[in-house]
Amino acid sequence: MEIKGEACGMVDEKRFYLRGVKLADQCPKCSETRKVDFGEEYLSYPVVGKPFDYFMCCERCGHEWSVKLVLEITLARAAFNAMPASEKS
Ligand SMILES: [Zn+2]
Repeated sequence: MEIKGEACGMVDEKRFYLRGVKLADQCPKCSETRKVDFGEEYLSYPVVGKPFDYFMCCERCGHEWSVKLVLEITLARAAFNAMPASEKS
């Protein structure tokens, strides 16, 4: 088996959730940690492999800033026992 190429282009999904992916960043103004859970907050029509600005808002002081993110999607051959125990039925 051979898998070639890299995923690219726009994900045709208005609300693209990434369950299990969490981001934490410090507010540049007051140092409060802002946490984002992408299982609850979504990316709208993200473009794979292309860096974009994600806007953050501090819950303590209201300051807004952005972080550079990139969505990468990989398709790979799975090892026989690669499935996490939590997903086995
Ligand atoms: Zn702040």
